[in-house]
Amino acid sequence: MSKTLFQRIADREIPAQIVYEDEQVVAFRDINPQAPTHILIVPRKPIARIGEAVPEDQALIGHLLLKAAEVARQVGLTNGYRLVFNHGRDGGEAVPHLHCHILGGRALGWPPG
Ligand code: 5GP
Repeated sequence: MSKTLFQRIADREIPAQIVYEDEQVVAFRDINPQAPTHILIVPRKPIARIGEAVPEDQALIGHLLLKAAEVARQVGLTNGYRLVFNHGRDGGEAVPHLHCHILGGRALGWPPG
């Protein structure tokens, strides 16, 4: 099976500004930022999207969320931030490799568009 775009970034085959990585997850700056800070955190495991995660992924997804909060702290999002998972067409998903958006650096509107 060919690698996903985000596996290729995690494996450094495609350049990206990596801000955090460990054996389970990689966080890097979004190429088309929607806020002053826009980082994606992804599991190295190529789960397509959140709705396709399985019970054995529970610890991995918990780890990813805790690391998302840690990354947000590390990049200085002291006024707050938003974590977003887009699932499927109506959710606005474009890349079929599970990723959590970390958005901050300005007041974000609600509800989202
Ligand atoms: P989605 O719409 O699937 O939730 O989000 C995919 C995100 O990946 C988008 O925000 C898009 O800008 C970002 N993205 C797509 N291709 C690349 C890339 O090659 N490098 C980086 N760093 N981000 C990408």
